[in-house]
Amino acid sequence: MKRICVLPGDGVGPEVVSSAVMILEQVADKCEFVYADIGQSAYNKTGSYLPAETLDLMRSCDSSLFGAVTSSDAPGYGSPVLKFRKELDLYANVRPVKTLVPRQLAPQIDVVIVRENSEGLYTRNEVVDDAGVTTMRRVTRRGSERIVDYAIAYARANGRNKITCVHKANVLRESDGLFVAVFRDLMKAKGKGLQSEEQLVDSAAMKLVTDPAQFDVIVTLNLYGDILSDVAAGVAGGLGFAPSGNMGPENSVFEPAHGSAPDIAGKGIANPTAAVLSGAMMLDHLGMVEEAQRVEEAVAEFYSSGHLTQDIGGRHGSKSYTDHLLKHLSGADR
Ligand code: ATP
Repeated sequence: MKRICVLPGDGVGPEVVSSAVMILEQVADKCEFVYADIGQSAYNKTGSYLPAETLDLMRSCDSSLFGAVTSSDAPGYGSPVLKFRKELDLYANVRPVKTLVPRQLAPQIDVVIVRENSEGLYTRNEVVDDAGVTTMRRVTRRGSERIVDYAIAYARANGRNKITCVHKANVLRESDGLFVAVFRDLMKAKGKGLQSEEQLVDSAAMKLVTDPAQFDVIVTLNLYGDILSDVAAGVAGGLGFAPSGNMGPENSVFEPAHGSAPDIAGKGIANPTAAVLSGAMMLDHLGMVEEAQRVEEAVAEFYSSGHLTQDIGGRHGSKSYTDHLLKHLSGADR
């Protein structure tokens, strides 16, 4: 039995996560789901955005499925997402983006963005003085090595052939320069048989839109990975299509790449695909490969059989989408 910590969170988080859990329950009888609070709802109950009990439960479970949290302007607010990524040493953020909707609605893209998840600008080290603000951006050799290592291992394990290192080393010569140097060294040492490429981040952003098919695996620094994965999701039809996994040596947390989408929360129109596919990534990671494939196939069937969610101009809301997938997985539609 695998124990999954479920963290619905705020905004559309609870809506998309409940859809994902229903679908996982249908395919994976070896999973037990236990719930924990995070974000605003946790703060209202306990005075903490990431209570110690939540973190303990995440640590003790085999994996976690997280929805989203709404950021706060309140003084003293610290992002619970950045905190659990740090506390659980989730150094790799894996974001696959693949077009599921018909060709005439979105260009074909099938890319996996492997984003460094522990350093860069996300250490949030900002020093304010009278003249302005200085933000520290840290790039380490170890951090760069482990994310490039992860990308190489991921490419091999998933039958991917090419890794593009995305950076801005023409301007950030030392920091991004270190990242590129590590990429070159490791590709030489461990990347035999894999095609190696380097691109500047501005150019990569443009090419993701104009020629997305040229990308396979992208390995990149924290902020670039965050931005490029939204660009890629936009190409595939929107943020509702992009799942993600935060991976570390001991722990893993799977979450849709989108945020809490307060503009559509509570309306029943959020697309649960990113959360459902995050659940499939989790099953795969936990060794339930066949179950993961069944979920992926059910999502693909929904779109390929002419159904569309509202974010891509269709009529399906979260509930009718989930009902369709449950029916398909139960075989009742055959
Ligand atoms: P946050 O502050 O929590 O990051 P946000 O609104 O700034 O919230 P996202 O939640 O990522 O950022 O949403 C960006 C846009 O994408 C919003 O217009 C939102 O409605 C849309 N969006 C995000 N997730 C989904 C989804 N699952 N289905 C449909 N639209 C979505």
